[in-house]
Amino acid sequence: MTNTPHLINGQEVMPADAQTAAVENPATGEVVSQVPLASSAEVDQAVNAAKEAFASWRSVSLSRRVQILFRYRELLNARKDELAAIITREHGKVHSDALGEVTRGLEVVEFACNAPHLLKGSATQNASTGVDVRSGRHPLGPVAIITPFNFPAMVPMWFTPIAVATGNTVVIKPSEKDPSAVNWQAQLWKEAGLPDGVVNVLHGGKEAVNGLLTHPDIEAISFVGSTPVAQHVYETGTASGKRVQALGGAKNHMVVLPDANLDQAADSAVSAGYGSAGERCMAISVVVAVGNIADELVEKIAERTRGLTMQGDNPDLGPLISRDHRDKVRGYVDGAEAEGAKLVVDGRSWSEADQPEAAFLGPTLLDEVTSQMAAYRDEIFGPVLSVVRAENYDQALELINSNPYGNGTAIFTRDGAAARHFEMEVQVGMIGINVPIPVPMAYYSFGGWKHSLFGDSHAHGTEGVNFFTRGKVVTSRWGDPAEGGLELGFPQND
Ligand code: NAD
Repeated sequence: MTNTPHLINGQEVMPADAQTAAVENPATGEVVSQVPLASSAEVDQAVNAAKEAFASWRSVSLSRRVQILFRYRELLNARKDELAAIITREHGKVHSDALGEVTRGLEVVEFACNAPHLLKGSATQNASTGVDVRSGRHPLGPVAIITPFNFPAMVPMWFTPIAVATGNTVVIKPSEKDPSAVNWQAQLWKEAGLPDGVVNVLHGGKEAVNGLLTHPDIEAISFVGSTPVAQHVYETGTASGKRVQALGGAKNHMVVLPDANLDQAADSAVSAGYGSAGERCMAISVVVAVGNIADELVEKIAERTRGLTMQGDNPDLGPLISRDHRDKVRGYVDGAEAEGAKLVVDGRSWSEADQPEAAFLGPTLLDEVTSQMAAYRDEIFGPVLSVVRAENYDQALELINSNPYGNGTAIFTRDGAAARHFEMEVQVGMIGINVPIPVPMAYYSFGGWKHSLFGDSHAHGTEGVNFFTRGKVVTSRWGDPAEGGLELGFPQND
């Protein structure tokens, strides 16, 4: 067992009197690490390190910054298996899925290597006689990045490379449930040549987060997590005068129209519903079967669900993050059954498998779920797929648009006009057409609508660059010093 200390100004910090939390491997229940929970003293220490580093980092040339990013990209690409192993040990997702997470994070690093192009302003000569105007973008200062347990490497990489490339310094507070991936990344930044203090890792829970939200030297906050915490972060951070983007929870619907290829739709529903044990903010948790295809679709999904395994050398999915969370998810299955949903595939027996300390729950399929049931209303965040039956397309659209979340959604159809209507009318930020998990590429921006995002900036892409910078516009005139004279009126066009 090891410790996962804070990393502040390039140094490991593990105060002797620190409160700590145990980090478990959810596949075995074994405690693999102890992580310190920061008090306000460590919050100050981390923010001060970021503040001091900002004084010089903001002036480091773009070409030097980008050289470090390229080195980081090369190191990460060469050693991504190491990072994936850390993710699997603390989060539980299977190795191939962990590698996929690292690869999607790597895309953001590659995007951030474009910083010189992304930060290019515009210029106008002779906007008025002898007057030139130019714009540019400037870093904010020390920023805080607060991330959830479910993507312990990728979500930190949605923000850190862009914040650093655009000249900011960072205090990152990963989830205390699987914190070691961010320490590994911070060590890699150091190896790539990033000066100490530019990326600092602060561990902890609520107290550490609240300390960052109100700290006078933090300029901006990027948060990803559940909706109630996202709302709290947004309200507290903005009340303290900070720029905040807070991405929240989700309930993603996949609509299957009667003309869809049902085999393709069933494959997609199973992959997107049970991959990573359903612990993805873009997981499909509701399949909306439209019209008379419901029985056939449910049968196709059930057949595939029964074929999934959590054992052997090549499991399809791993355990949930903890036994507590596993029990909560099981409770939703119990509740749905009691409320009248039809239990087509029951994964609950997995939780009594040979390892009682592990947090496994088998893939579970519920049919005839209604919008009144708790299993529909809440974000379950587990391997539970609910089928809601809709009479027609309009009913399916109305169901999605009246849901408080608006992260991702998908439609499966062969009808281009129906797909286009869906794209235009659905109140959701990320839409898939015959694509079940429409996660935008790094050069687009990631984010939902409604209760899935507080603030108005999505993550990465140009919105990410704008979030971590602010604009300056310079108007200049280099006339002959002999010219001049008073002019008290507001300038006219000339
Ligand atoms: P969480 O909200 O419990 O925790 C997120 C972060 O906030 C962690 O760093 C945690 O330490 C901190 N935190 C927890 N409770 C807090 C409190 N009361 N006050 C202040 N800080 C607090 O989320 P989680 O369980 O780690 O992650 C799963 C959630 O994240 C799901 O709801 C999922 O949908 C969401 N998520 C959303 C996206 C997205 O892009 N919208 C991406 C990934 C995950």
